Amino acid sequence: RCARLPTVKTLDDFDFTFQPSVKRDQLESLHTLQFLERKENVVFLGPPGVGKTHLAISLAVIAAERGRRVYYATLADLITWLEDAQQAGHLTRRLRTLVSPSLMVVDEIGYLPISRTGAQLFFQLMSRRYEHASTVLTSNKSFEEWGDVFGDEVMAAALIDRLVHHCHIVNIRGNSYRMREHRALASRL
Ligand code: ADP
Ligand code: MG
Repeated sequence: RCARLPTVKTLDDFDFTFQPSVKRDQLESLHTLQFLERKENVVFLGPPGVGKTHLAISLAVIAAERGRRVYYATLADLITWLEDAQQAGHLTRRLRTLVSPSLMVVDEIGYLPISRTGAQLFFQLMSRRYEHASTVLTSNKSFEEWGDVFGDEVMAAALIDRLVHHCHIVNIRGNSYRMREHRALASRL
């Protein structure tokens, strides 16, 4: 169900000249998927439109092409799915399903508020995936702001601690690619 990617994006489609804060070397090296073997995580941080989802998906596409099981969800969808399972009394089974993919993308951390139980369920999942399988996360919020996102400073700190223990962080600073055409148009007016 959620394993389906929302769209297909590749590293070849990514314009590095538009986003100089993204280092081509680092991204090419991530696309060798050695981080998957090492069960390391990848976190893309940055404002909207800078290519976080694009790059997260291109990693998932490569992994799927190499026969790895991948799973994609936004944080909001993932939490809804966990909450539904908990209410239906089969949370354990669903957690097991979500621990097994060798690559999981958790997209859009920080856009929508999360309930306390939702945050706890996500924390449980990430604790199980820790040192077991890789997770690629994207967020428009810096780690300092994750306490607000998850509504709990202590839990956010524990989550970040596990995430960054074996982690590649890609900080993207720059303009929204979505806005580039508007900008190009505006400059001609
Ligand atoms: P974010 O997840 O950071 O909000 P997206 O990855 O969804 O941003 O990017 C917005 C759109 O712009 C997508 O269609 C994406 O493919 C495209 N895009 C973003 N950055 C680049 C780039 N540097 N080169 C080519 N396309 C890009
Ligand atoms: Mg996105």
